[in-house]
Amino acid sequence: MAVPRKKVTRARRGKRRSHLALVAQNMTECPNCGELKRSHHVCGACGHYDGREVVAAKPETDADDDAA
Ligand SMILES: [Zn+2]
Repeated sequence: MAVPRKKVTRARRGKRRSHLALVAQNMTECPNCGELKRSHHVCGACGHYDGREVVAAKPETDADDDAA
């Protein structure tokens, strides 16, 4: 198995990891139901996109409450 020739310094390791940070999703309010949704994505709560229902809305269950 290939083995690295030199130890990667803290600075070099940090520079590599400077691009690894997670970025928060851009959330907007659904114009149909008001739920927070990702912009340019179908609303997960009501299934609407661009003013019409694209995906059939999920039936109300207890499991969906913790997602709200
Ligand atoms: Zn919605």
